[in-house]
Amino acid sequence: MKSAHGRSGGVVAVEDVSDDYDVVVAGSGAAGLVAALSAAVAGARVLVAEAAPLFGGATSVSGGQVWVPGHHHRGTVTEAARQDVRAYCTEHSIGRPVSKIDAFLDAGPAMARFVEEHTPLRFTAMGGPDSLTPPEATEGWNLEPAPLGAGQFADWQEWVWSPPYPAVLTNDEVAESRMIFGGAPPGELIERRMSRGEVTLGVGLVIGLLRGCIDAGVGLIRSARLSTIETENGRAAGVVLDADGTEHRLRVRGGVILATGGFEHDRELVENLLTIPTTVPASPPVAAGDGLRLAAQAGASLAHLSEAWYWPVVPTDQTWGESSTKRAEIMLAERALPHTIWVNTAGRRFVNEASHNCAWALASGASDGQPGEPAGVRDRRFSIPGPLPTGRCRPRRAVARRRGGCGHPHRSGRPDQSRPCRAD
Ligand SMILES: Cc1cc2nc3c(=O)[nH]c(=O)nc-3n(C[C@H](O)[C@H](O)[C@H](O)COP(=O)(O)OP(=O)(O)OC[C@H]3O[C@@H](n4cnc5c(N)ncnc54)[C@H](O)[C@@H]3O)c2cc1C
Repeated sequence: MKSAHGRSGGVVAVEDVSDDYDVVVAGSGAAGLVAALSAAVAGARVLVAEAAPLFGGATSVSGGQVWVPGHHHRGTVTEAARQDVRAYCTEHSIGRPVSKIDAFLDAGPAMARFVEEHTPLRFTAMGGPDSLTPPEATEGWNLEPAPLGAGQFADWQEWVWSPPYPAVLTNDEVAESRMIFGGAPPGELIERRMSRGEVTLGVGLVIGLLRGCIDAGVGLIRSARLSTIETENGRAAGVVLDADGTEHRLRVRGGVILATGGFEHDRELVENLLTIPTTVPASPPVAAGDGLRLAAQAGASLAHLSEAWYWPVVPTDQTWGESSTKRAEIMLAERALPHTIWVNTAGRRFVNEASHNCAWALASGASDGQPGEPAGVRDRRFSIPGPLPTGRCRPRRAVARRRGGCGHPHRSGRPDQSRPCRAD
């Protein structure tokens, strides 16, 4: 390790890591990278330690949609619109103090401006409303990264986790082309983006943040797991990083930021904490609850651990990078295609298949009071071509059983059974 005056910015190897930082951030998803960027812009000497061999965590395989009510790309926000969004957040926040919702509404737009000012990322406002059957006032608040040159991360598959779909189109372009419902992919556009080395979605978000962090002098190290926080007089004073099979002790003057994502790959936490345990994880195999354990060991009190966000997934035979963990692909289209319904074990339709969080109801296993696994029923004549994961799943039998449910922690777990219906 180097002294406090060693090289600090950019992606560093373990031998380049200093033994002294103002701030150490565990995790290189959106949360960790934005925190690191803020600290560095404020003048701190920062190291981001990433446990996995690739950066980005769940963020890099995500759609990269960031819900920022009041963002600056939609013009001035009236007080009435703010109150509508506040009421919407309150309804879906399961007992959170309103002060936290207000803090989110104030800080969100400032965060989006800050990220654009300090990284090459440019956001565009997406069409459509937020996910949970919202009122009109919540339309247009999703931001997504505009196509972005990958710069020094041109061979980005070597740096970040890859999503199962091409990260060269925006969410809006995918929707417009109706690719996931069998529409033709916009070939020329895809080629143009690829030839320019541009990226979008979660990959774009992570690469834009990585580039901003590097420009701000942040040090980044991969395959370095933060395993211990050392405290002095009740304050974090140092960390231990496990890298290259060795423990490395670093002093920390300012603080430690835990941005280690969720816990869906830790079966015990999933079974013990979630009201309805998720069945198949959809994120890279690194979300194992380290942040919860580290925070608890350092004396933090924990709350709101029973919430998850559920989505139907299709298990596949592909693995995550070089690990042996199998990937699951999220079901984007199939559940809402014509000639498709979900039924419970009594053969009754019990949920609006198109609703955003229908997997909560599917995962509950108690669909409409019926125990057991729900089934997706599809007309065998219907199949869709197309390059996206759901397009590859063609029905072989009239009835295809799918376990419902994957978990993305930190989201409200309310089911949308707003239009429960029966089709006996
Ligand atoms: C397929 C999919 C699509 C999604 N689409 C969207 C979307 O469009 N919009 C949206 O809002 N949400 C979406 N989500 C959810 C969203 O991706 C996550 O909520 C978000 O990315 C979490 O960000 P994070 O920074 O907290 O965690 P992560 O991005 O998971 O990052 C955590 C990082 O911490 C690292 N880590 C773990 N333990 C340690 C340790 N001890 N030391 C060092 N590093 C550690 C992990 O390796 C990981 O890189 C999606 C999720 C999935 C799986």
